[in-house]
Amino acid sequence: MTQLVEIVLPVPLVQVFSYRFLPEQDSGGKASLEPGDLVVVPFGRRREVTGLVVKVADLAPDVRQVGGVKLRDVTRVLPPEYRITGDRMRLARWMAAYYVLPLGEVIPLFHPPSPGTRARGTGKDSSQSPYPDVDPQDITLTAAQDRAVQAAEKIMASRSFGALLLHGVTGSGKTEVYLNVISLALAAGRGAIYLLPEIALTPQTLSRISARFGDRVAAIHSGMSAGQRCRVHEQAARGEIQVVVGPRSALFAPVHDLGVIIVDEEHETSYKQDEKPRYHARHAALIRGRENRAVVILGSATPDLESMVNALDGRFELLELPDRMGGTLPGVEVVDMRGGGNPEGFTPALTKAMTQTLDQGRQVILYYNRRGFARVLQCADCGEVIMCPHCDIGVTYHLRPRRLLCHYCGFSRQIPETCPDCGAEEFLPAGGGTEKVELNLQAHFPDARILRLDHDTTRRRGSHRRILTAFAKGEADILVGTQMVAKGHHFPKVGLVGVLAADDGLGLPDYRAAERSFQLLTQVAGRSGRTEAGRVIFQTWRPDDPVIQAAAAHDYAAFLAEETPVRKALGYPPYNRLLRLGVISRRSGLAEEAARQLAEAVRANLNGPGLEVLGPAPAVFPRLKDRYRFQILVKGTLGKKEKEWLGECLRSFKEGFRGVDVIHDVDPVSMY
Ligand code: ADP
Ligand code: ZN
Repeated sequence: MTQLVEIVLPVPLVQVFSYRFLPEQDSGGKASLEPGDLVVVPFGRRREVTGLVVKVADLAPDVRQVGGVKLRDVTRVLPPEYRITGDRMRLARWMAAYYVLPLGEVIPLFHPPSPGTRARGTGKDSSQSPYPDVDPQDITLTAAQDRAVQAAEKIMASRSFGALLLHGVTGSGKTEVYLNVISLALAAGRGAIYLLPEIALTPQTLSRISARFGDRVAAIHSGMSAGQRCRVHEQAARGEIQVVVGPRSALFAPVHDLGVIIVDEEHETSYKQDEKPRYHARHAALIRGRENRAVVILGSATPDLESMVNALDGRFELLELPDRMGGTLPGVEVVDMRGGGNPEGFTPALTKAMTQTLDQGRQVILYYNRRGFARVLQCADCGEVIMCPHCDIGVTYHLRPRRLLCHYCGFSRQIPETCPDCGAEEFLPAGGGTEKVELNLQAHFPDARILRLDHDTTRRRGSHRRILTAFAKGEADILVGTQMVAKGHHFPKVGLVGVLAADDGLGLPDYRAAERSFQLLTQVAGRSGRTEAGRVIFQTWRPDDPVIQAAAAHDYAAFLAEETPVRKALGYPPYNRLLRLGVISRRSGLAEEAARQLAEAVRANLNGPGLEVLGPAPAVFPRLKDRYRFQILVKGTLGKKEKEWLGECLRSFKEGFRGVDVIHDVDPVSMY
């Protein structure tokens, strides 16, 4: 039967597009299409675009056009494993409405790139590792772990939706809880999705999971080819595997009858996708959990304030794992830098602690959240900073290779002979970076083996993992790096963590600056003393800052008590919702005018009780990559009607203003 099919496509328009389906074509044996089928169609000049069938009707075979428009034909139908139905379809619709996106732009999340691609090779990936796992038979859950597992079991047994917030420091046994709950789900014939930040998907973690669930589990990660991802997708869809592990994209895997969804390190900002479609995987996980009447477990040592407030308000059940397995948390010493010194320098206290730790044959981690050798180069005469020609930002001085580099657009240039402003010939490096810390270390500890972990040393595929593995195996004495050192591996031999410029993140123009700083400091401190007693030193110019103090005391409650009143008073999340609108153009006048008009329209229409529109104002970075950027912020909760209006408004705005990009970010995590 020839059909008229309505298809949504990943293009920024809400319309559905009509196509003709002739079953004698490459239909994979299908006689007719149904809503939920994925198909490949030509669109504009593109020959192959994957779309979702949302509606079908019979069509007389000789009808060639509809409403004066010539119908094009469906090229190909994807195998049944790629159909989007049931809970996944409802999740897709929820996401489209909540994040104000056309359904077509959400759909690509629900299938791997180039669906149907054949997997090459054996399908075995690097997740196989030599690390042995503790035999689960040898583990008796602690009382706190047992309470958490039972709470999850109760929710699953009642076939209702429920969310747990598992608050426990690193090494407190959260993973053991997840594995036990997944086992219970499998025993009940249900499936599981286990989300981890990409960076935590180490061979250790993966082998620990596969040691428990064998061939019932498969992982998705960035090291896999499209073919391998397709294979996992198809296996899940056929019910051949019941557990899928991966970063945020794994949430959309077609696992049958989910019993549990785990979001580990739930505070990680990588759960928010910062490009279209901008969605938060933690929020989406709660929705998918609700659709499946499943239990959703959010786990963290430093829960996102939003999750904690949800727990304290009774929407989530709060479970604490207060103690580290077989160990204590390291003592943190706060060293006051106000007497002088460089951010990238070592105080006598830190030098002494490093010497002692190395003498004991243990390892040191140094954390400094800036890369390069110097933050900027400054003319010694006139004081001008060398700027990026494309961004309103100074370029960073790198030694290897010796160049000035813009961290925002990638622009790179040689060191100029003379100052572009005054012609003087001398420049001074200002502010430090990890390259400089590495050189300082070599000077102070000439015998130590040093590894550096930052964006510059991890450009090549696999280098990130290689550096971490080398350090974990004890092939180096000191690991210096940016926030990459705070996450991932378990380093049993680390006896000291030094944090340089611990207050660096506190001054950022972002309402979450304090929260991010607290989380990072707590996390990096937690790298010390995993097996034996360890030490931590924070070097800081703000030793009395409550965030520094709370992190030094491993005191989440103190941080919570400090931060929540501030958020409440300023009307920020979790006590309010935010919508960020960015207006971007190559022409500054055009960007400004468009932002003004958009703000006016938004003010006129989103003016209900509890709504407040701020701006337009230049963004925190007013020019990046030759584009001028303005920002509008809406505080308050938008209802269904208001979101529909917004979708309509953005669409007509984009049509009306050529040369202007408008981005909208519902529940933004980054304010830049
Ligand atoms: P987290 O996920 O909170 O970092 P893990 O679950 O990885 O913590 O536990 C830390 C270590 O303690 C692991 O080596 C794990 O095998 C071990 N462990 C966890 N629970 C128990 C237990 N009940 N008895 C003995 N060892 C345990
Ligand atoms: Zn730039």
